[in-house]
Amino acid sequence: MYCRSCRYPLSNVRGTCCPECGRQFDPADRRTFARRQWRLSIDHLVRSILVLTALGSLTLLSLSIWPGALADLVFWAVLSSILWLPISLIAFIILAVFLFRRHRQGGLLRIPKWQVAAVPTVVVVTLVLLFFYVPRRLAFLLSRSAFERMAQSAPPPGTTPVNAWLGTYWVDEYAGDASGTVFFSVHSGSAGLGPDVMSYGFVRQPSQQSTPFGAAGYRVFHIVDDWYWFRVSDDWF
Ligand SMILES: [Zn+2]
Repeated sequence: MYCRSCRYPLSNVRGTCCPECGRQFDPADRRTFARRQWRLSIDHLVRSILVLTALGSLTLLSLSIWPGALADLVFWAVLSSILWLPISLIAFIILAVFLFRRHRQGGLLRIPKWQVAAVPTVVVVTLVLLFFYVPRRLAFLLSRSAFERMAQSAPPPGTTPVNAWLGTYWVDEYAGDASGTVFFSVHSGSAGLGPDVMSYGFVRQPSQQSTPFGAAGYRVFHIVDDWYWFRVSDDWF
C-alpha cells in the first residue's frame, strides 16, 4: 500500500492521511492508494521509444551502406517472425492499453510536442534516406577512388579474387571484359529458401545482360557517372 501521489509506503501509517504529502487514503478502498511503489512514467516510456526508434534507424541506415545486407536482414526477420511477431504483438497491445489509460487521465498532454513528433519524423526521414539509398551513395562516393584504381588494372575475363578493402567495402572478387565493364562483388547472400546465391556489388559501365556471378534477376541501380550497384542470382536462367 503506497501513496498515490508520492509513493510513500502507507502500510504502517496510522490514520488516513499520507505523512509525506498529506493525501487522504482509505485502506478499505483500493482506489485511494497504489499497490505498487514503482510507477511506469509516461515520460520515460516516450523517451525510451524515441531512443529505440533512433537506434533502429541508425542500424538500418548503416546496414543499407552494404548492398544486400538489408535483404539478408529481411530474409532472417521473416524466417524468425514466428518468434518475434507474437512477442511484439503482445508488447504493442500492453503499450496501447497503457497509453490509452494514461490518455484518459490526461497524462499524454504533459509530453512535449517535439517528443511526440520526433518518432514519426525519424521514421519518415529514415524511409526517405533508405528509398534513395543515400547512405550507400555517400559511402560509395567516399570509396570511389579505390574502385577506380582497381578498375584501371584491367581484370582478366572470369572472376579474380580481390579480398581487400576498397574504401568502405570488402571486395571478394572482381571481373571485367574488353568493353570496359568491371564488376566488384562485395556481398553474397541467400535468395530466399532456395539453393541460389545472390551476389551484390558495384559495376562500372554495365552493358551486358549477365554477370560473371550469374544472370537471373540481374538488376543495376545508378549511383554516379558510369557507376552502378547491382544484384544478381547465381541461377543462370
Ligand atoms: Zn503521499
